[in-house]
Amino acid sequence: MVAEVIDGKAFAAKVRAQVADQVAKLKEQSGITPGLAVVLVGEDPASQVYVRSKGKQTVEVGMNSYEHKLDAETSEEDLLALIDKLNNDPAVHGILVQLPLPKHLNEDLVINSIDPAKDVDGFHISNVGLLGTGQKSMVPCTPLGCLMMLRDYHGSLSGMDAVVIGRSNIVGKPMAQLLLGDSCTVTIAHSRTKDLPDVVRRADIVVAAVGRPEMVPGDWIKEGATVIDVGINRIERDGKNKLVGDVDYASAAERAGAITPVPGGVGPMTIACLLANTLTACCRANSLPEPEGLTV
Ligand code: NDP
Repeated sequence: MVAEVIDGKAFAAKVRAQVADQVAKLKEQSGITPGLAVVLVGEDPASQVYVRSKGKQTVEVGMNSYEHKLDAETSEEDLLALIDKLNNDPAVHGILVQLPLPKHLNEDLVINSIDPAKDVDGFHISNVGLLGTGQKSMVPCTPLGCLMMLRDYHGSLSGMDAVVIGRSNIVGKPMAQLLLGDSCTVTIAHSRTKDLPDVVRRADIVVAAVGRPEMVPGDWIKEGATVIDVGINRIERDGKNKLVGDVDYASAAERAGAITPVPGGVGPMTIACLLANTLTACCRANSLPEPEGLTV
């Protein structure tokens, strides 16, 4: 079997076009422009690239982008004061604090100081609790993007066996909650899982979110399974820098029914879902109907 490629880049472009279309309608019908505030503390090069890209795409879909770049020594007090200001600014519908934060800042405290209704990353404990109890919440962008691609490919996921490799708060756990919400039978695997190959071989859906280059070989994949590779790993091969996932793409593509590539799979969906979440937050804040197909 040669797997169908799930093209995250094309899917993300479709999501962005949907968001842009609904933002235009929102502006025309109610004069409201959704606004996303992104807060970056320090000069982490990867974070700077992400923030630039988020700002650019926010403007491209017709939303307002507010970037707050603070120096690496910013005190917790000053950061919390900025978040408080953004929480109370009616022009700001979504707030994202770029992680990781410098070591002297308490990430949990900072994230939990964001108004949950504006928490477009979905990391606030209220949103985690709402998602865990199957209530309306802000859903973390990367797992939301994975779910959208899975729903688009399969239609219903009901009754499928899914394994999520990785149990982080930002990817693994919310991904498992979303799959459970769609009535999959979900296994969460992690570094202490016994016989991971056997666990993966039973799964109709494999979501790999580990951060270890190509650790899942093709012979772990059940024939015809759908593989969603969240991993982004920078490696050097043949003297060149390369991005690879957590799955060995070449061998997995020979057994899977469908697979996301790295790059061009889950990655582009993450920012598209951030824009979708900002639009959702704006609609909720204004008691307007939520955008269709862009939320869970
Ligand atoms: P974390 O490091 O927070 O979590 C990694 C998880 O993998 C942990 O739960 C860990 O288990 C598990 N793990 C580690 N080694 C093994 C192993 N040998 N076998 C099984 N499980 C193992 O990573 P994140 O969740 O933040 O990110 C995962 C990957 O996804 C990274 O490559 C990251 O770059 C990428 N990513 C991509 C995004 C995108 O937009 N495409 C967005 C976010 C992340 P344990 O808990 O036991 O330690």
